[in-house]
Amino acid sequence: MTQHWRPDTCGCVVEQLYDYSGTEPVLTSQRIVSACADHINSGAADVYEENVSKNMALWVLAKLHPERTVHEHEWKFAGDRTLWLRPHRDVPKAALRDFVAELERAMAAVLPEERAAALARRVRLA
Ligand SMILES: [Zn+2]
Repeated sequence: MTQHWRPDTCGCVVEQLYDYSGTEPVLTSQRIVSACADHINSGAADVYEENVSKNMALWVLAKLHPERTVHEHEWKFAGDRTLWLRPHRDVPKAALRDFVAELERAMAAVLPEERAAALARRVRLA
């Protein structure tokens, strides 16, 4: 089954093909059908990984400091597609000590481990 995905991390439109024959839907292929200015020379996997990075980074912030929800932290991608996070001002610096390690673990659940580690190290806290 084909679906069009519009990530909230950029303006791309990605066509994704899912196999629904098993118990869980499996993404079998994806391609950019309309590229945003930042992804003219990228593949759909780059767009997907950026979205996963943002989602997981917010999830980890909420896990490390449950008093604030994912919507209370700010995020943006810089021109070089580095993800910058600005945690809510209530989040103590000490709570963020294990941020990168936690992010690596969270991302390894959905991406190959080496890729997860590389992407986690590219996320910056403002
Ligand atoms: Zn894009």
